[in-house]
Amino acid sequence: MVFDAPGQSLRAAEIAEPEAGPGQLLLEVRACGVCRTDLHLLDGEVPIAEPPRVLGHQIVATVVGDGGRVGVPWLGWTCGECVYCLSGRENLCPRARFTGRDIDGGYAEYAVADERFCFPIPSSYPDEQAAPLLCAGLIGYRALTMCGNAQRIGFYGFGAAAHILTQVAIADGREVFAFTRAGDDAAQRFARELGAVWAGSSEERPPEQLDAAIIFAPVGALVPAALAAVAPGGTVVCGGIHMSDIPSFPYELLWGERTVRSVANLTRADGEALLALAPRVPVETAVSTYPLEAVDDALADLRAGRFVGAAVIVPGDAR
Ligand SMILES: [Zn+2]
Ligand SMILES: [Zn+2]
Repeated sequence: MVFDAPGQSLRAAEIAEPEAGPGQLLLEVRACGVCRTDLHLLDGEVPIAEPPRVLGHQIVATVVGDGGRVGVPWLGWTCGECVYCLSGRENLCPRARFTGRDIDGGYAEYAVADERFCFPIPSSYPDEQAAPLLCAGLIGYRALTMCGNAQRIGFYGFGAAAHILTQVAIADGREVFAFTRAGDDAAQRFARELGAVWAGSSEERPPEQLDAAIIFAPVGALVPAALAAVAPGGTVVCGGIHMSDIPSFPYELLWGERTVRSVANLTRADGEALLALAPRVPVETAVSTYPLEAVDDALADLRAGRFVGAAVIVPGDAR
């Protein structure tokens, strides 16, 4: 399924099977998670420099040749020599290349990936259950680490990332407060089922002040809303790659040593940490699966909030 230009549907196409170069693996895609970043790519909010491109950056695949199973995340390549790469911050490498944006991704039957950026997948996870760990889980986990030892954490936008992080946070003894679109009863019920102590609309104040909040919804107005909900010293982490403009707000909301920050991409260390932690929690992912040809339906359903948890593309009829 090929991206040609912003504003267009993905196009079904027969393209040549990719060839693995030195240090790369040829992969048969078994599952690929759908991510909100794909909507930003489709809408042109995050540019794709060299279309046509195959999107999809949460790939679970079989390595052609040795039969092993690997996961491929958003971070597809880094330079290894810049100040960021040399200081444990390869997520900020200015030359980084990203799967499904700069490198063809997993909305296809085959893909090629740099073997240094592939992770082994915990054996306890079926393919489609593992896929959402690779971006929703991983970048969400990086955002969670930026909340320090916050006890009460709010998640604004209760989708693929929040449903994974709720399980991680509760296993860690924290309390989760879930904020959804007003009237999204299904998402609020889902959050409570997963153990959130409170679920409501993002326009509401939680019953207690929060120590931290992570904003997954791409809505800039949630920044002042979340600042108003966190206690002095609290942190608001913006977890998405794109957000609408943040409205101006009174300094009083930031005063009291509150912090606003973003989280960008992931490092391989984040991936290793989450994929070791997930089976111990154990994180269970709620997935809706779609055939490869229906990826546009999955993206439309994500945009409209028509499923809880995560959407996953499963190529091939037999699986
Ligand atoms: Zn993603
Ligand atoms: Zn670099």
